[in-house]
Amino acid sequence: MAKSRPMGYIFPKRIQEAIAGESSNKTYYGGGLTKEEKKKFAEEKLKQNKEKSEKQKALEDARSPWTCPACEKMMRKKLDQKYFNRRGMCMDCTIKAETYLRTHGLFEKYEEAVSLRNYKAYMIDVKEQAVEFVNNLKSETKIVNHDGTFDTLTSDITEVKEFMLHEIEDIDKKLEEVKDIDMSLSAEYVIGVNLKEIVKDILKEEKEREQLVEDNS
Ligand SMILES: [Zn+2]
Repeated sequence: MAKSRPMGYIFPKRIQEAIAGESSNKTYYGGGLTKEEKKKFAEEKLKQNKEKSEKQKALEDARSPWTCPACEKMMRKKLDQKYFNRRGMCMDCTIKAETYLRTHGLFEKYEEAVSLRNYKAYMIDVKEQAVEFVNNLKSETKIVNHDGTFDTLTSDITEVKEFMLHEIEDIDKKLEEVKDIDMSLSAEYVIGVNLKEIVKDILKEEKEREQLVEDNS
């Protein structure tokens, strides 16, 4: 099992930079484009990327429920959304769940199980992107001109291909270290808790206690 803090691992960032660099280069190669036109292309590309990530965010927001699945209260606070994305519950419920884990000595174990799963999922994702990138590398790129004619641009892909294959090899080594992590089993399952049910029980107990205090006063 990996001992170092896996989330700090840097090379996927290098891969992503290489991929981003290569795809933005494609907009710069230009069949007789002026400097201004190239700049415009680059700006357009940036704008497109920004719109894409905003759309993605809107989609994610839409997928989140309005009410917390544990306490069934409306998730109004911005922080609730953050906690929901991380733990599947609103902020108050997450705090209750984490307190439970701490008092039962399970918090560290749970955090480790979650972070190893995130790490492995991330590495699998980066590898997929890298492999797809290598498979799509072409030494010739066709550019359509304004008048409908084509320009064929040739580039040397040997170097970037070698770099990526080496990175993929590194990813495989890292994935080998976490091969025991069974991604079909959730972190909660592995440490033997169901946090949603635990929080529901805690909330029920709290309510009963409040009722008892009310009845006695
Ligand atoms: Zn809640």
